[in-house]
Amino acid sequence: MVERIPQVKQECCQECGNCEAVCPEVFHLNEATGKSEVINPRGAPEERIQDAMDQCPAQCLEWVEES
Ligand code: SF4
Repeated sequence: MVERIPQVKQECCQECGNCEAVCPEVFHLNEATGKSEVINPRGAPEERIQDAMDQCPAQCLEWVEES
């Protein structure tokens, strides 16, 4: 079965921190780059990951298939 995991499009992240605020188990702002990164792709229910995605002002968060 193909599962999906969240991914951050690094080039468009505006470093606002919304995703980490909504879902800190999955998203974290990298101290060095300031950009968001996925620290645990299955760290929260999909619904809350989706909430974080929906609240990204630059729409930088997306689902990708994991093979
Ligand atoms: S919500 Fe979007 S723009 Fe803001 S830190 Fe997360 S990925 Fe970056």
